Amino acid sequence: MDIEFLGGASQVGRLGMLFRVGGTQLLFDYGMLPARPPEYPLEAPPVDAAFLSHAHLDHSGMIPWLTGHHRTDVFATPPTLDVADLLLEDSLKVAAAEGFNAPFSSRDLEEAAHYFQTIDFEETVEVGGLEVTLHSAGHIPGATMFEVNGHETAVFTGDLQTISTDLVLGAKPVKCDTLVIESTYAGRQHPDRLKSEYEFLQFVKSVVQMGGLAVVPAFAVGRTQEVLMCLARERFETFLDGMGRSVNSIYVDHPGYVRSTKRLRQAMNRTRLVHSARGVDRALGAEVIVCTSGMLDGGPVVRYLRAIKDDPNSAVCLTGFQVPGTNGRRLMDEGMVEIDGELVKPRFQFRKFDFSAHAGHDELVGFIEGCAPKRVVLMHGDNRQALADALHGPEVLLPEEGKWYSL
Ligand SMILES: [Zn+2]
Repeated sequence: MDIEFLGGASQVGRLGMLFRVGGTQLLFDYGMLPARPPEYPLEAPPVDAAFLSHAHLDHSGMIPWLTGHHRTDVFATPPTLDVADLLLEDSLKVAAAEGFNAPFSSRDLEEAAHYFQTIDFEETVEVGGLEVTLHSAGHIPGATMFEVNGHETAVFTGDLQTISTDLVLGAKPVKCDTLVIESTYAGRQHPDRLKSEYEFLQFVKSVVQMGGLAVVPAFAVGRTQEVLMCLARERFETFLDGMGRSVNSIYVDHPGYVRSTKRLRQAMNRTRLVHSARGVDRALGAEVIVCTSGMLDGGPVVRYLRAIKDDPNSAVCLTGFQVPGTNGRRLMDEGMVEIDGELVKPRFQFRKFDFSAHAGHDELVGFIEGCAPKRVVLMHGDNRQALADALHGPEVLLPEEGKWYSL
């Protein structure tokens, strides 16, 4: 068995892994890093089939390039393919708005759908003598781990969450010879999840009691739904603006992939949607607004930042990792934020809460031990050595991009 990373081994973003056994070659994920300018993986050769773990662009962003160039069949769960379509279309709009050349056209994206093959958890597909079985990876609804059975068993995790959240149940280990696992949080722990959610609700309550508006920037896919389900425990007057609205609808259309569709629906029913300028005005007079973008870089959140920037009773509640160089990161590090091209020192309060959809360091170690592999390949992380140092027993590989490794 040989593997090569086209991207995303030593960094988080633009993931792509070639997997070769005998004459069969598979590709797991093919993403891009939505930075400015965007970063892409190495060019993929023709493969027998591609498997997409989930919809986030760092895993899916180059799929239309692949189907356009090589007419490759792409296997993934139904919610993954539906949400990927939405995010890929949005990535074309962002590229056009920011003046970058997209690696594929809207026609490529339309035609990609002809190569999408849906498959559910615990089902198996056979490609060139290899059997590939899908298991839930936690992370977001539909996120998949792939178990490949040939002469030996290999597991590719994609992005992994082992604790159960309001939205999805945590992933369970799968026994294998080779485990290829993400390492985003290598060397870092998460605070207790329930404690984070409690602190978030307490903070929002204090903002509401002071008569302020709590602006909750959240990624549209996964995070928005987690946040809405958490907020639904209290009776806040909550509005939702941005792409999270469409993702909500996709998730309730695929009930088998959400922990409780009933609870997601209840949370949605307690949330009012912003569709128009009048809706924005109503949201500004409400208690909580959940909106994209999660890192304050454009999107509907800008109008809410503009409205509350001089109000010390209002607050911004960040709910995700803020990538260096983003507006959200600048707010956290410098207390400054860019609004309409102008750098301002806002008077609103701000705090970050941990709603991560990735396993923390100890969970990764526990998961690896549960899989009992002979060898572990650490990928999708910029601090992989910290995880390698914590593993005793299996052989550990920290691959570099653009090199073949025989396992
Ligand atoms: Zn992800």
